[in-house]
Amino acid sequence: MVHDEGARDLVDPFGRVVRDLRISVTDRCNFRCPYCMPAEVYGERYRFLPKPEILTFEEIERLARICVERFGFDGIRLTGGEPTMRAHIATLVE
Ligand code: SF4
Repeated sequence: MVHDEGARDLVDPFGRVVRDLRISVTDRCNFRCPYCMPAEVYGERYRFLPKPEILTFEEIERLARICVERFGFDGIRLTGGEPTMRAHIATLVE
């Protein structure tokens, strides 16, 4: 990934340089791993984020470009929830 000369490292509280930007594309997931989505919280009555509160593809791309220019990440990871739950995710990856 190309970044400008003025990019500076993003360092976490433990002094580690953050190399990858992780962007959550959805809060939804069908796997329901108990440590991540315990049944007592994510039961049938749980309401996931409404669509207007989810970043659009345009917003994700803009955010990614700004972060790469500023911090010079080596890569971007799309995460969730489960990223394949997001409609048309292949379009975003392209
Ligand atoms: S987001 Fe990941 S860890 Fe959480 S329930 Fe889904 S697959 Fe499991």
